[in-house]
Amino acid sequence: MPELPEVETFKRYLDTTSLKQVITKVKINDNRVLNSNDNFFKKSIINKQFESTSRHGKHLFVYLKPKFLIMHFGMTGDLEYYSKNDEEPKYSKVIFQFENGFNLAYTSLRMFGRLEVAETIEDFVEKKKLGPDAFKMSLDEFQGALRHRTAIAKNALLNQSIIAGIGNLYSDEILFRTKLHPKSKLDDLEEEKVKELFVNIKDVLRFGIEKEGDLSVYPKNFIIPHRKKEEHCPICNKELNYLDISGRRSFFCPNCQKDSRQSV
Ligand SMILES: [Zn+2]
Repeated sequence: MPELPEVETFKRYLDTTSLKQVITKVKINDNRVLNSNDNFFKKSIINKQFESTSRHGKHLFVYLKPKFLIMHFGMTGDLEYYSKNDEEPKYSKVIFQFENGFNLAYTSLRMFGRLEVAETIEDFVEKKKLGPDAFKMSLDEFQGALRHRTAIAKNALLNQSIIAGIGNLYSDEILFRTKLHPKSKLDDLEEEKVKELFVNIKDVLRFGIEKEGDLSVYPKNFIIPHRKKEEHCPICNKELNYLDISGRRSFFCPNCQKDSRQSV
């Protein structure tokens, strides 16, 4: 599922393929992925260009001058740039056709991704109540985002209105590196531990961006390649455990990530 590093990879892909070309047609194969009315969507995009892009959390913003196309990739969203002589990519939901004979397809196996047109990024971020971007936030912003939050660590990292961009996979890695149990309380953490958590968020996301979200290249000392039943901790070799938290499976090492609530 695309998290911040994957969306950053989509951003770079779009930047290198699709900027500054006039869009002559928008083909909507399945309007269930649209959060905007079909006609408004088309009208806002046709005869414009993708001028530039920016990203906030898991959302990609494409500037159309004056409006913005906003892309969210849900569980299985992807982008594919291809020539009009090539076959249309599988699961294409919306296709942007450029004057130069190339197309950009927004594909999604399932329906969870969303495209829409908005007036400004700020309005959208406010409407969605998104917290600061996990990769760009400062330590101050991070500390501010955690203030008065009583959520357990796993939920705090996943909650896009606290911090935007982190999903199930990277949150497991971040907690593993920080040696925090997924159910530990962040409002109990000492300042040093908060700083450590902050640094690990940045490091894990940076690594993901560098690897373009390709999980097959993850080193063995990460927990990500071991997120399976009966796998062992790459540090202490104890069997990993998991908890289902808010409908998502969270893997952790019961030895390296002790539940602080039990030691009180
Ligand atoms: Zn361990």
